[in-house]
Amino acid sequence: MSYGGARAFAAAFRAIGFDAVLSPEGDERTKELAAKYTSGDECYPERVTLGNFLKVTEQKNFDPSRTAFFMPTTTGPCRFGQYAPFLRMTMTKLGYDDVVVLAPTSANSYREIGEHALYFRRIGWWGLIAADILRRMLHKTRPYETAPGSADRVYESCLNDLCAAIEDRAAGKKEKLRSIAGCLVRCKDRFRAVEADYSRPRLLIGVVGEIFCRLNTFSNEHLIRKIEACGGEAWLSDIGEWVWYTNAEQKKNLRMAGKTLSREMLGAWLTGVVQRRDEHKLLDPFAEEFAGYEEPRTVMEVLELSKPYLPYTGALGEMVLSVGKAIYLQKKGADGIVDISPFTCMNGIVCEAVYPRVSKEYGDIPIKTFYFDGTAVNLENDVEIFMELAANYGRSKRVARRYPSYFKLAHAA
Ligand code: SF4
Repeated sequence: MSYGGARAFAAAFRAIGFDAVLSPEGDERTKELAAKYTSGDECYPERVTLGNFLKVTEQKNFDPSRTAFFMPTTTGPCRFGQYAPFLRMTMTKLGYDDVVVLAPTSANSYREIGEHALYFRRIGWWGLIAADILRRMLHKTRPYETAPGSADRVYESCLNDLCAAIEDRAAGKKEKLRSIAGCLVRCKDRFRAVEADYSRPRLLIGVVGEIFCRLNTFSNEHLIRKIEACGGEAWLSDIGEWVWYTNAEQKKNLRMAGKTLSREMLGAWLTGVVQRRDEHKLLDPFAEEFAGYEEPRTVMEVLELSKPYLPYTGALGEMVLSVGKAIYLQKKGADGIVDISPFTCMNGIVCEAVYPRVSKEYGDIPIKTFYFDGTAVNLENDVEIFMELAANYGRSKRVARRYPSYFKLAHAA
């Protein structure tokens, strides 16, 4: 999860009575601790999450009998399914048998969360959408701010307000949704009040890739800030996209199992309808704000774009989303695409093999995969070179970018 998404999710836990906090940010200690308990075969996100949980065990007030680590799980070939069992194994090895590893899956309807599971899923979803909206506001404001640090400060204060709205236990369900929506509208005004210079548009760089590494700024060594430092602005694929994808996959699997007309299908369909309705309630006030930054209307739009390269009926997971979204972003006028992937992740490797053809068929847009494994690399240099390529492409690209009204006003002035 992104920093904001994780904060919102922790607030959703507090709303149902858990004393939830964010796991610590990654740092050198994270890597040291992870290196002690891993073999090197694990993917980088696993090492970062494990290292951060191990940092919790070093905190002065750590009490194993009152601690649970939240680590969702899944099935399938991706190593993500190994994270929770490996965390459990490591805690046991350290003698922390009391520590609970809370590993809900969509397959068991998040039953592990207990009686509030349904309510938690709903407010957790609101939190994720709201956090995505705030991060989008940050990414489209920060590159243009005239006082460095001002957009980041607004972002922090907005997250504080959002979390307060989510965790308010006195508010009923309807009231809470209204309160989150109201908070987002106030945040929109706060971002717009950040002093910024929109008279010179920047290079627009689409950012796709593995979900953890692209959203976790420690893991990707703050790549987006580096893009901004080189004159770009980033359009980062959000977490909501993954939720829509898993919903679509669930329906596809039910159809394949001959359950097109079944209770499960009805449940999946209803969940989607409610989620979409809630998303509209939170997102609609941002229509003008996100003009030119519109996300695909449905995940099928992304999957269809990826189909000639990685048919979603056979290829699964983030690779289909990354390729489809890269094309979508090219069509929105992006000047270049960056794929953030952990070193040795098969999603990144498959995408990297496909990108040259995508680039060739979409105007030669530069697409570059940046791999991360926590070792020092000369990232600045690579970003600078990539931005040169993006600038070249930008000068001759055939797809014009659409700008929000405040850009036009700045140009008119
Ligand atoms: S997508 Fe890649 S990096 Fe992420 S959990 Fe799966 S194997 Fe690991």
